[in-house]
Amino acid sequence: HARRTEGVDKNVWNEFTQLAADYKAVNLGHGFPDFSPPKFVQEAFCDAVNGGAQMHQYTRVFGHPRLVQSLATFFSRVTGHEIDPLEDVLVTVGAYQALFCAFQALIDEGDEVIIVEPYFNCYQTMVKMVGGKEVYVPLRPKVEESQSSAVWTLSAEELASKFTPRTKAIVINTPNNPLGKVYKTEELQMIADLCIKHDVLCISDEVYEWLTYDGNKHVKIASLPSMWERTITIGSGGKTFSATGWKVGWVISSGHIIKHMKTIFKNSVYHCPTAAQEAVACAFEREYKLFGSPESYFQQLPAMLHHRRRKLASCLQSVGLQPIMPEGGYFMIADISSVKVDFNDDSTKDESYDCRFVKWLTKEKGLATIPVSIFYSPEHRKEFDKYVRFCFVKEEATLDAAEQILRKWS
Ligand code: PMP
Ligand code: GLN
Repeated sequence: HARRTEGVDKNVWNEFTQLAADYKAVNLGHGFPDFSPPKFVQEAFCDAVNGGAQMHQYTRVFGHPRLVQSLATFFSRVTGHEIDPLEDVLVTVGAYQALFCAFQALIDEGDEVIIVEPYFNCYQTMVKMVGGKEVYVPLRPKVEESQSSAVWTLSAEELASKFTPRTKAIVINTPNNPLGKVYKTEELQMIADLCIKHDVLCISDEVYEWLTYDGNKHVKIASLPSMWERTITIGSGGKTFSATGWKVGWVISSGHIIKHMKTIFKNSVYHCPTAAQEAVACAFEREYKLFGSPESYFQQLPAMLHHRRRKLASCLQSVGLQPIMPEGGYFMIADISSVKVDFNDDSTKDESYDCRFVKWLTKEKGLATIPVSIFYSPEHRKEFDKYVRFCFVKEEATLDAAEQILRKWS
């Protein structure tokens, strides 16, 4: 085997997803909707499939023409920057491959990459695969009893201390998985100032950009002054239109950055499936027309999830788990330290408290969740092992089933 496969072979997701399947658990673990995408999105896919021979053949390498055009049109309006569909956009196999192309194209051996914790796991392994060095900085709750993701913040001093002459990039994720934090403009400005001062790139994972609650607004760091040239913004058609299995993602950035990502892309995947790209393009065109109106899916989905998030939070509260209300995204984390459980499971005795708790809850109670310490580096994991993550982008019936389990047990 090649050396680059070393140290990145374990993937915790497989373990927890398998456990949920083995025990046929009610699954609030893995982050995907268990409901169908809206009708207009399904119809767009059917229309694409029935749209003639060319829908079943290769399309443009760096993105289907209709999709790059609709992304450029849509995001030019959102960012206030004129995005060139052919130069500034790259379509990828999900946001996951967009991240992979970014690290491969921009990070060299020995380069340092600052990763804000908690972080989506693949940032770590993808940086390792290119021989980069991860430098971690955690979001911490400002108050002991945090009730909202808003009180989790970066210390400006701590973050500044992580920048060195070797720092090449910082990775942020807003709205955040797993915490649900939505960065405020001032917080993004603080990060932007450091990027500009140290001439560092910002990889901004915004797959949950349309999902904000309680009046919180998603802000794109690329839209702050002098940040367009140094920001790589990553999005997901799967998360945007509740169709995670389509695996259509994209990167939007300045052409001088995108061109290097295109090099990685054309030497690996080369084409993304045509029909799924056509469908995402049509869905964006519809959203462009309806933007800001109550019929827009970008209004309807968060409105629906707002209710489910409330429902899950009150259920958790009623059984003594302290939820941290997310400002955005698919997930809610809850503090489990007040519940005392006798795990009675020697097979997990060397694991962290949250991992033991999640395995116990899955095996003994039939409810699958995800431990939050896996979103931290080994050096900070111990400090954050008292939370578990619940996904609330689920059918009402799934949430009801979870509620029944929780009520019976408490
Ligand atoms: N980034 C984050 C923060 C995620 O939670 C996920 C998982 N959906 C991805 C990227 C990957 O997205 P996709 O399914 O579009 O590859
Ligand atoms: N983003 C999803 C989650 O956090 C999917 C993770 C994955 O497939 N690795 O649950």
